[in-house]
Amino acid sequence: MAPVIYPTTNFTATEQLCLERGEGIYVFDSDGRKYIEGLAGLWCTSLGYSNTEVMDAITEQLHKLPFSHTFGGKTHQPIQDLADKLAAMVPVEDAYIFFGNSGSDANDTHYKMLRYYFNAIGKSEKRKIITRERGYHGVTVAAGSLTSLPANLAHFDAPLEALSILRADSPHYYTARQGNETEAQFVERILQNLEDQILAEDPDTIAAMIVEPITGASGVIVPPEGYYEGLQALLRKYGILIWADEVICGFGRTGADFGCTTMGITPDLMTFAKQLSSAYFPISASVIPGWMYEAMVVQTNEVGVFGHGYTYSGHPAACAAALKTLEIYERDNLFAHAAEVGSYLQAQLREIFTDHPLVGEVRGKGLIAALELVSNKTTGASFEKGRAGATAQRLCQDNGLILRAVAGNAVALCPPLIITREEVDEMLTRLKTAIDASY
Ligand code: PLP
Repeated sequence: MAPVIYPTTNFTATEQLCLERGEGIYVFDSDGRKYIEGLAGLWCTSLGYSNTEVMDAITEQLHKLPFSHTFGGKTHQPIQDLADKLAAMVPVEDAYIFFGNSGSDANDTHYKMLRYYFNAIGKSEKRKIITRERGYHGVTVAAGSLTSLPANLAHFDAPLEALSILRADSPHYYTARQGNETEAQFVERILQNLEDQILAEDPDTIAAMIVEPITGASGVIVPPEGYYEGLQALLRKYGILIWADEVICGFGRTGADFGCTTMGITPDLMTFAKQLSSAYFPISASVIPGWMYEAMVVQTNEVGVFGHGYTYSGHPAACAAALKTLEIYERDNLFAHAAEVGSYLQAQLREIFTDHPLVGEVRGKGLIAALELVSNKTTGASFEKGRAGATAQRLCQDNGLILRAVAGNAVALCPPLIITREEVDEMLTRLKTAIDASY
């Protein structure tokens, strides 16, 4: 085997799937076997695998200007065009945008930007960040510490003490409810816990709370009705900023432009990556409001350079890929398409799996969904160590469907946004065969 260290992989894993090419929502392995990419790569290939318009935009840019850094005021047209386009789309007032290469580095950027901003306005003590149990925000030092999945924290000694990270309850009613608690009682309890935590820590020491509007890697958790309304009221009450991690939810995934729109969140900061360029080129964006930017200008005037940036921040080919991707979303009405096909997917999933003996919960919105696999449907008891999730993932693959086991025993679906109803039917037929064979 070649000496590759694979990411998020058990070092003893031997099974490998070697993909060779893609077309539409399908990928083909090196033996010519065809699969539906039911997770859009890793929640990212929204336009599928053969979009020549995006490829051409990248190639054209590579021929014109393959690279230019953007440090110290150096700029180029693609970064400006992309910033204008994205700023006009996002629900952030007078948005300013910092570009990076991945969701993780974009979250690290926000982490540092928040410190820079609060230092600028003379509130240096406001440095703690609230994250949620089971949240996923990436793997770099700050983003990895904001992540709460055990594998991403254990053995890396994260979070570092100095990172000042607080963890709030996961809003997953199905797995975290107590006794006969109703959804409303569950929401009330976890928001009360959060308020107690904020008061115990002192609100003046807390900068922001990061949330994925609908989570991905932690099992596609859609919080109950009323949760975000109450959460926002609480955070506003204590002057804590709302930081939406839209790395998965952004750009049509949940059946609207952003997860924040679907879930009724008014964010202060937003993080994007993945579907920003449909994964044709790595790029991320950290969005802040104009009032935060203005305060940072004052700070820079005092301290000198804003000392943060990546060599590939605003890479011209990445910007060209993202710009073309956003243009295609708009021209082809892809968010409306995702809403329409997404409702169909959600309805079909419930129709097929709600009564399935192995499925405890069907959840999701738009074109993101998960099935919670349980060993006892009545009690909701789970299988040991993600056994059912891993088995289902393998059986799906054997049936020509790539998807991913998440949070142990859930399997996640997140197909390319271009998927049609007929392709949804084909995907669910393969999924049903695999789930039936899992027990
Ligand atoms: N935030 C969320 C919500 C994610 O799902 C991910 C990756 O899956 C990230 C951040 C990290 O993005 P990346 O893997 O590009 O660093």
